[in-house]
Amino acid sequence: MANLEMQGPYVLIPDKIDEIVTAKTPGNYALGYIADKNFIVVYIGRSDNDLNSELKKLVFCKSDCLFFQFFLVKSADEAFEKECLNYHDFGGNTGLKNNKHPVPLKGFDWKCPVCERAGG
Ligand SMILES: [Zn+2]
Repeated sequence: MANLEMQGPYVLIPDKIDEIVTAKTPGNYALGYIADKNFIVVYIGRSDNDLNSELKKLVFCKSDCLFFQFFLVKSADEAFEKECLNYHDFGGNTGLKNNKHPVPLKGFDWKCPVCERAGG
């Protein structure tokens, strides 16, 4: 069974985001719902500089994305690597609602550690 290696799940509402994602830092997140006490991953993503505000943009999310998990990292390339690992572990664009592979920060030629897809 794939492991997100993130903290949570928490309810995806602004108050909760402010309560637990307190540092302004790059990070990763997964959105999903709870079924039989398990967090079911629906969508994964990252922020290159401010996970808190990125999550707040997602609170509109539909009924299957009421919860989130997160993981803070030190740099945007770390966030990209983790996003790639999570993306592939959870089925890529067939298992997730992500419709495309994670893309590196504009201007950087980071490669996916799983499929070596280059971006930029
Ligand atoms: Zn890949």
